[in-house]
Amino acid sequence: MARVVVLGAGVSGHTAASFLRNWLRSNDEVVVVSPQPTYNWIPSNIWVGVGLMRQEDVLFPLVPVYRKAGIDFRQARAVALYPEGRDANEQPVIEIEYTLDGKRGEREFVAYDFLVNATGPKLNFEATPGLGPGRNSLSVCTASHAAETSQILDEKVQRMRRGEKQRFVVGVGHGGATCEGAAFEYVVNLEFELRARKVRDKADILFLTNEYELGDFGVNGIHMKRGGYVTPGRIFAESLFAERGIRWITKAHVHGVEPGMAHIETLDRGRGEVPFDMAMLLPPFTGVGIKAFGRNGEDRTGDVFAPSGFMKVDADYRPRAYADWKASDWPRYYQSPAYPNLFAAGIAFAPPHPISEPHKNAEGQMISPAPPRTGMPSAMIGKAVARSIVDMLRGSPKPTHAASMAEMGAACVASAGANPFTGTAAALTVFPIVPDFARYPEYGRDTDSTFGEIGLAGHWIKILLHHLFLHKAKLRPGWQLIPE
Ligand SMILES: Cc1cc2nc3c(=O)[nH]c(=O)nc-3n(C[C@H](O)[C@H](O)[C@H](O)COP(=O)(O)OP(=O)(O)OC[C@H]3O[C@@H](n4cnc5c(N)ncnc54)[C@H](O)[C@@H]3O)c2cc1C
Repeated sequence: MARVVVLGAGVSGHTAASFLRNWLRSNDEVVVVSPQPTYNWIPSNIWVGVGLMRQEDVLFPLVPVYRKAGIDFRQARAVALYPEGRDANEQPVIEIEYTLDGKRGEREFVAYDFLVNATGPKLNFEATPGLGPGRNSLSVCTASHAAETSQILDEKVQRMRRGEKQRFVVGVGHGGATCEGAAFEYVVNLEFELRARKVRDKADILFLTNEYELGDFGVNGIHMKRGGYVTPGRIFAESLFAERGIRWITKAHVHGVEPGMAHIETLDRGRGEVPFDMAMLLPPFTGVGIKAFGRNGEDRTGDVFAPSGFMKVDADYRPRAYADWKASDWPRYYQSPAYPNLFAAGIAFAPPHPISEPHKNAEGQMISPAPPRTGMPSAMIGKAVARSIVDMLRGSPKPTHAASMAEMGAACVASAGANPFTGTAAALTVFPIVPDFARYPEYGRDTDSTFGEIGLAGHWIKILLHHLFLHKAKLRPGWQLIPE
């Protein structure tokens, strides 16, 4: 009998745990450790943030799903990893701390044969003074953040109905943030919603981003086939904003947020102030801060995790100049080089380098997006890791299933207004996610497989994906057949 422990019940961890349970023998154990009692379909938080969905529409309780599937769920957060065991016992263990009411704060050691770290990001609002919910700006990163954002939006709409002008700032709240695509999706949804509520003329909307140019999305921009032509993502994004009257500031680092005011510095224009009545600014990400220890308590965190807190895997982390980065630097199996029974999936793995070209300002502040790891690759990595672990438990000496972001494509449907008749969405596909200039010398990507369209069809696809992925996550009949 073997035990596989999965840390995190998000896109990547939940996918890994579901397939592990499906593929392992019934007497093997699958344990999921995650601090929240619910699963959150995060992409639809955007719609919660503009008041078109409720929190309940994007959340469901994990306990009944895991009970039915035969997965042992511990509502707790992982705090420390002992990959060589503790004291005289060589059995690897993970130390967890319960968050469940009635057991809150209790600690426990859970033994494992294989461990998948799928803990996603720590939302690092602290990196920018004054940033984030409970401080001076809003977020849609969690369902409750999004619900609060929607409530504040309602208040602003009331003011506009009384004739007041309101200034909205949407974007990322730090020069090193990622997830520009989500901020982009929120701003176009916000603009659509203000039109639907008939107050658009009272709103000034500004997009504030660390991207060098619009349409970078943390993947160094995309060149896509549209109507037989190759169009840079910048043209696509700028025309979308121009048509909707959304202003933008690029190359920006937010170094502080006060009530009604974001303090920024940009690569080309120095320091400045951006006033607002409502600001939705996404935070930068780090790892969740799990420590690693040797058998006698010696700190091994640096062997297992990168300084960012994300887990080191089979990537080439040697520091090199931008021009020397290669697609082959990116990991294929997500296995820890230090401990072969340790894997990281989704946002939890440490990327070898950014995808977008890095830029620093005169003060040395990095102002360029960190690499995104969106839902589709996160789920595909979770599934590949699960398959490799099953094969290793059956005798394979090494992982068997690769899922390199330099060898896979991703589809992203960014809703730009939710209405079954007048809504639109931008449907983008890129291949590969990490550009490979050895294979595709011109743009780093296959322009035949990289395309973007905007229209009502994309909006229907987005609605369909919401229901399809929730059906899959609830492990309802046929879930295995729904692609990642
Ligand atoms: C607003 C928003 C919109 C987005 N829209 C899209 C989109 O349209 N399309 C798309 O492809 N991607 C989208 N993304 C990105 C997508 O949500 C992520 O790629 C995906 O969630 C990453 O999966 P993950 O499993 O790595 O992390 P998560 O889904 O964040 O899961 C991490 C899990 O780990 C748990 N955890 C945290 N700390 C610990 C700990 N110490 N111990 C154990 N468990 C822990 C968390 O509670 C959670 O269950 C969006 C992201 C945001 C923020």
